[in-house]
Amino acid sequence: MEAEKDFEYVIDRFADIKIMRYKVPDFENITLNQKIFIYYLSQAALCGRDILCDQFYRHNLLVRHTIDAIVNSYGGNRESGDFKQFMTYAKRVWFSNGIHHHYSCDKFFPEIGEEAFKQLIINSDFEQMPKAAGESVTDFANRVTDIIYSKTDLKRVSLDSSGDVVKASANNFYSGVSQAEVEAYNATLPQPDPERPLSNGLNSRLVKTDGRITEETYRVGGKYSAAIEQIVSWLEKAAPYAETDQQRECIGKLIDYYRTGDLRLWDEYNILWVSDNRPRVDFVNGFVEVYGDPLGIKGTWEALVNFKDLTATHRTETISGNAQWFEDHAPIDSRFKKSSVKGVTAKVITAVQLGGDCYPSTPIGINLPNADWIRKEHGSKSVTIENITYAYHQASLGSGMLDEFCNNDAERTRSRKYGYQSSNLHTDLHECLGHGSGQLLPGTNPDALKNYSSTLEEARADLFALYYIADPKIVELGLLPDNEAFKAEYDSYIRNGLMTQLTRIELGKDLEESHMRNRQLIARWALEHGKADKVIEMPVIDDKTYTVINDYTRLRQLFAALLAEIQRIKSEGDFEAGKNLVETYAVKIDRQLHAEVLERFKKLNIAPYGGFVNPVLKPVVENGEITDITIDYTESYTEQMLRYGRKFGFL
Ligand code: ZN
Repeated sequence: MEAEKDFEYVIDRFADIKIMRYKVPDFENITLNQKIFIYYLSQAALCGRDILCDQFYRHNLLVRHTIDAIVNSYGGNRESGDFKQFMTYAKRVWFSNGIHHHYSCDKFFPEIGEEAFKQLIINSDFEQMPKAAGESVTDFANRVTDIIYSKTDLKRVSLDSSGDVVKASANNFYSGVSQAEVEAYNATLPQPDPERPLSNGLNSRLVKTDGRITEETYRVGGKYSAAIEQIVSWLEKAAPYAETDQQRECIGKLIDYYRTGDLRLWDEYNILWVSDNRPRVDFVNGFVEVYGDPLGIKGTWEALVNFKDLTATHRTETISGNAQWFEDHAPIDSRFKKSSVKGVTAKVITAVQLGGDCYPSTPIGINLPNADWIRKEHGSKSVTIENITYAYHQASLGSGMLDEFCNNDAERTRSRKYGYQSSNLHTDLHECLGHGSGQLLPGTNPDALKNYSSTLEEARADLFALYYIADPKIVELGLLPDNEAFKAEYDSYIRNGLMTQLTRIELGKDLEESHMRNRQLIARWALEHGKADKVIEMPVIDDKTYTVINDYTRLRQLFAALLAEIQRIKSEGDFEAGKNLVETYAVKIDRQLHAEVLERFKKLNIAPYGGFVNPVLKPVVENGEITDITIDYTESYTEQMLRYGRKFGFL
């Protein structure tokens, strides 16, 4: 596939990040009603930006407001080295929604010195600064730079289970409480129907003051009220444009939940949301993903507005239409299989607006809701965000990665020929079938795997995809063109799991993030267990290490064996076995190999992380009526961040 000539996908570049744009194909062809609906939902999607920022760290908003004020009003030389270094820091803070790296969760620091930073504050408009009443400019500058430069609160999310993960994490979900206190508190929360457990703690902050623990619920009139009120008001405007009565009811339920914080309403909303697949326009809006909390309880706020990509959805409908066949033939113990796989809804979507924890760093697939019992009784929605994956793909063409890390032309050619298609299919299988497959044995505690659960769950979904992508059934269903295509995915999966994903990690660090841990777990486990038969080898040619798969059939069998074991671990809640797998294969990095990969990667000068600016939606109003919504792609990253700060800064 050739890079498009008319549309520049990469629009900014700083630190380890590239900023891209995404196109919204087909937006012109949806109805006016759908466009207006999308417009209002998009406003709601942008109103929670400050919530996420504050959830990540208690001082993030102060720092971000200060940065915005400097960028807006600094009166000194903007061409100076100091100011340029400051701008890099500003862009990083915007990107991470705070002062900790969005992926590693480590606190990062400006390259500009502390004194120089103070000078920037002093030489900007003090009126625009988020100062305290009566605070002098010097006191303010000292207070803010203390936060930015202090060597404290270094980790946003710590998964180091040797200590207290709550105390060791700088996030703002907890204040003054220990892990033991959180666990004890959560155990006291009412669980009226243990078969259908409420997501207790999902939408609150837990605070201990004067020896008393209280829960601050995120709701209108509670924590984050000012932002939530705005979200609600846009949702109210959106509701009349819903495409079905059920979708309108669903939005109403979400509004009620935001007003009360009542988690029963959250479950009811999710059930309405997951069981209506008729509307073309859809959205995510709420406290959803729990990766930001080391205990996996608190939800970070996120939003996504999208509409169905009709052509590409045909692909995933084929997969979900055969869900029962895949479940029945899975290489796992039959006790762990679902006798009937319900409501695996598969669709491909076009993102129109990203918000909260989906912005600027964006997932390429989503599978919701998270509550196991709702998934079991009502199914789940799995989506692939095709215009985002396409933008990534376009941006990656010509990056030099394939030339550097593939060891032969056959592999490179295969990757160019099948890479985009097979990697999309992997994502579909992971999201549509992988997460939804299998079941817990009766009585198994869904939280039994604790801090290892995310890694093991991602591994389970990936293995399901890896096992089936090589199945003749896939070609039979027309999902891949021939029996060669899956090999492109195997090549890139192993190459990534053993080597190329290490480009995202600093030398000397371990793997922390669940998806990265999962990929190394699978690749290293397969390397080890196929060693005797040389299923995978890592040859060194001219001092460069490569990965080679010698036997694709055997590798598929190894994936099957590991899938069976991880499914058993989940179904039985075998914490020790899960811990052992993760600690043995997923965490530690081969330092020598890591150094080599970083060295080779550095020469390519590629940003390991990517994120997106949103297109700007603008209503066309005639005689007080919206007659069209136009879409504009020209806003720069800095312009967008400053505008969001002005327009959606509610906290
Ligand atoms: Zn997943």
